[in-house]
Amino acid sequence: MTFPYKIIDLTHPLSPTIPTWDGSCGFEHHLQHDYQPSSTTSFRTHRVHMNEGIGTHIDAPAHCIPGGKTIDELNLNDLLAPCLVIDVSAKAHERYSVTVADIEVFEEKYGLIKPGSFIIVRTGWEKFWSEPEKYRGNLVYPCVSVDAAQFLLKRDIAGLGIDTLSPDRPDEGFPVHTTLLSAGKYIVENIANSANLPPVGFYSLALPIKIQGGTEAPVRLIAIGE
Ligand SMILES: [Zn+2]
Repeated sequence: MTFPYKIIDLTHPLSPTIPTWDGSCGFEHHLQHDYQPSSTTSFRTHRVHMNEGIGTHIDAPAHCIPGGKTIDELNLNDLLAPCLVIDVSAKAHERYSVTVADIEVFEEKYGLIKPGSFIIVRTGWEKFWSEPEKYRGNLVYPCVSVDAAQFLLKRDIAGLGIDTLSPDRPDEGFPVHTTLLSAGKYIVENIANSANLPPVGFYSLALPIKIQGGTEAPVRLIAIGE
């Protein structure tokens, strides 16, 4: 029997040329051993060297909160969540910060955000993904205001995702990280394909590589729905 739901991949492929936080190569992928045509069974193997926070990845509370949950301690019940998309792409510019009003507009249309939801903020910045310098933008890109983060916390969300490097612009500090991670929530950055998602009605599943003691990890983020 085929799986009766639609699956949307919200994950960027990892490669050495993708945008990274510090502009360096955060992901190295080396051929270690190649097929041997002369033998009946042969293998190709690679070696990977990467930052935890590479590509589409998750931040666990321990990323900025000492004693917070690490990647391996995240609860699967939180990682599988109703997925809501707040789309501000029509107005988001590089210095745009999602406001409480943006969330209220969403709630007027689709109802109150339910506890345990995963909120994806769609800024449209993903369109620069294949132009790493532009996407990185010297760390200026659309993000989320601290007021909006606090509002989402009142709604008791499971986590927040965004299609930029971060929901915070470093020249304004990291209040969204601090607000959400200190409350035990998670953050997913560099989300792909959110334009393919309806605003409501899907579930998201964020599965990080289970790194013991890790504070961030690449995820395969998918959405499932009808
Ligand atoms: Zn982060």
